Amino acid sequence: MASEENDASSGRLLLAESDVVGQVIVSEEDLQSRIIELGAAITADYQGRPPLLVGVLKGAFMFMSDLSRAIDLPAEVDFMAVTSYGSATRTSGVVRIVKDLDLDLLDRDVLVVEDIVDSGLTLSYLQRYLLARQPASLEVCALLVKEGQQRTALDLRYVGFTIPPDFVIGYGLDVAERYRNLPAIHAYTGPES
Ligand code: 5GP
Repeated sequence: MASEENDASSGRLLLAESDVVGQVIVSEEDLQSRIIELGAAITADYQGRPPLLVGVLKGAFMFMSDLSRAIDLPAEVDFMAVTSYGSATRTSGVVRIVKDLDLDLLDRDVLVVEDIVDSGLTLSYLQRYLLARQPASLEVCALLVKEGQQRTALDLRYVGFTIPPDFVIGYGLDVAERYRNLPAIHAYTGPES
């Protein structure tokens, strides 16, 4: 039993001590307490009109899971998956929809749940795409926004944290599909950073 516990904790340490996992940018505690605040604000703002939460996979899966539990309303949840072309750490803004929504947006109060806004090009594309489905309202809740990077004007109703413009991993965010399961946001110190 003792050795199983050791194996589990050393597995977590091995992940955090990999040569690409840098310093903590937003701690697990700060993430969780800010998400409680965001959930309370959304609960207050959407009284009488429960939102349809639209998560953008894969990066927002963990944020959606925690945020949806912090919202005290009969919200519905749907996901879409997009890939944006570009290098490993830079988007080109050209977005391909890999998985579309299952639910109809017509006359719904839609709240997009996004992991991170860098240039803003992905979100700007998504907003245009979703508005064409004629929701009653369309707002955005972004966990992270990179300071001074936006190349398009965006109206972000809810923002978790503004962070420096460096590439980050963890809490849903990956490099080549890894590190999504880190419980905090870390700097990426790999070859492309
Ligand atoms: P944007 O179109 O705003 O430049 O980029 C948005 C998308 O690029 C995000 O949804 C995310 O998938 C990816 N992205 C942007 N910055 C980062 C980052 O620092 N780390 C990771 N892992 N992905 C990022």
